[in-house]
Amino acid sequence: MSTDDKTRTEMGSARPPAPQRVTRQRLAIRSLLDEVDGFRSAQQLHELLRQGGDQVGLATVYRTLQAMFEAGEVDGIRTDEGEMVYRQCEDDGHHHHLVCRSCGRTVEISAQVVEHWAAQVAAQHNFRDAGHEIELFGLCSDC
Ligand SMILES: [Zn+2]
Ligand SMILES: [Zn+2]
Ligand SMILES: [Zn+2]
Repeated sequence: MSTDDKTRTEMGSARPPAPQRVTRQRLAIRSLLDEVDGFRSAQQLHELLRQGGDQVGLATVYRTLQAMFEAGEVDGIRTDEGEMVYRQCEDDGHHHHLVCRSCGRTVEISAQVVEHWAAQVAAQHNFRDAGHEIELFGLCSDC
């Protein structure tokens, strides 16, 4: 009677709103960040994931990185070209970075001078709760 049922296409949108999936992506991205040394953009990480056989979408990588950044799981900085890049740093506390513009090699820096200066400037102007973002970009000895 209903042979039509058999001609149904398999195009049903597979959209599982599974939090498990997010967790899996987080784990994949975290282990990837463990392997690389420098900062990487969502695009670069997406490329590496695909090379490793993970068919994840770029939008998912963007979203996952953003969520990990907001949760404090990864460090994120904006390059001098305005692109957001991410890294798994050793230092959990407040620190800055010296980043190679060419190869992405990164040195974690704690700079008391900067912290004192920032606190002083804020106090001078009666600002409360002042934060700062200072990253140094240059070329490393290998580049
Ligand atoms: Zn860092
Ligand atoms: Zn370099
Ligand atoms: Zn600082």
